Amino acid sequence: KVIFASICVAFLAVKWTAPRFEAESLRGARVVVTGASTGIGEQMAYHYARFGAQIVITARREKVLQQVAEKCLSLGAQKALYIAADMGSDSDPDKVVDFALEKLGGLDYLVLNHIGPSPFSMWDGDVEHTKWLMKVNFFSYIQMAWKAMSALEQSKGSLVVVSSLLGKMANPFVAPYASTKFALNGFFGALQHELAMKKSNVSISICTLGLIDTDSAMEKVRGVTNVPAYPATDAAMNIIITGATRQLELFYPWPTYLLTLTKDWFPSITNYIIQNSYNHIP
Ligand code: NDP
Repeated sequence: KVIFASICVAFLAVKWTAPRFEAESLRGARVVVTGASTGIGEQMAYHYARFGAQIVITARREKVLQQVAEKCLSLGAQKALYIAADMGSDSDPDKVVDFALEKLGGLDYLVLNHIGPSPFSMWDGDVEHTKWLMKVNFFSYIQMAWKAMSALEQSKGSLVVVSSLLGKMANPFVAPYASTKFALNGFFGALQHELAMKKSNVSISICTLGLIDTDSAMEKVRGVTNVPAYPATDAAMNIIITGATRQLELFYPWPTYLLTLTKDWFPSITNYIIQNSYNHIP
């Protein structure tokens, strides 16, 4: 109980001393959101729009992007542009950044959020799928980050990486997905140190999310686990605030932070809980 109370107090202290979010700072901000045709990315696009940002959204489905962009304009976005891109291609990640720099004249926020579809099941030895997923969920992130880095340096901008609790602690049925998220945490964690050591203007925020109620996530876990899912719109707002206040990390919902601690402190208990939180093997 004492340990739990101390952790909660420490966590709340960090929360209370975090920089204040000024919504006004996002008016006119030049933002790219990837994976914005649906789910958390779509919700982020709407929040940025309400703050009066200039947005470029991207995903593969052009028609859906067009509808999201129209809604962004109706919500108050200063600009809402879209570009269809497949992050599994070699050239599309660069193409998106070039498009945004040309249309917005610079960049303040690069929000990397997209993921390719991946099965929720026992690992079946499909190495090709894992390689492809690495390309979509990891290599395209580092390619876009590098391409945008000098523009972000000029604008004192922020790079926001949407990751997962599954990139901090291993769980069953998501081996390819989890490996891409572990890769993101390792890569961008290292980059955070490097940017700090060279006193760069660019901040990197790594966002660790628990289960969020997007259609794609719910479709996978429905009937398989009773782990609570949190609202995508709230997750999206928390990610935006974390980027705008240049914090290094977000844990949403906050108990995900406790889980990352308990896995190291009490590994056997954590493993027991993980393996017993599924109703059946999908
Ligand atoms: P969704 O599956 O709802 O959305 C994924 C987005 O990525 C869509 O816009 C999709 O659009 C796009 N996308 C898929 N494949 C490609 C591709 N090859 N090239 C370009 N874009 C692509 O994801 P969520 O909203 O659920 O998740 C968003 C982020 O949050 C992810 O990084 C995820 O890992 C993270 N997260 C989510 C959790 C959850 O429970 N939902 C939990 C923890 C982390 P299109 O099909 O049009 O290309």
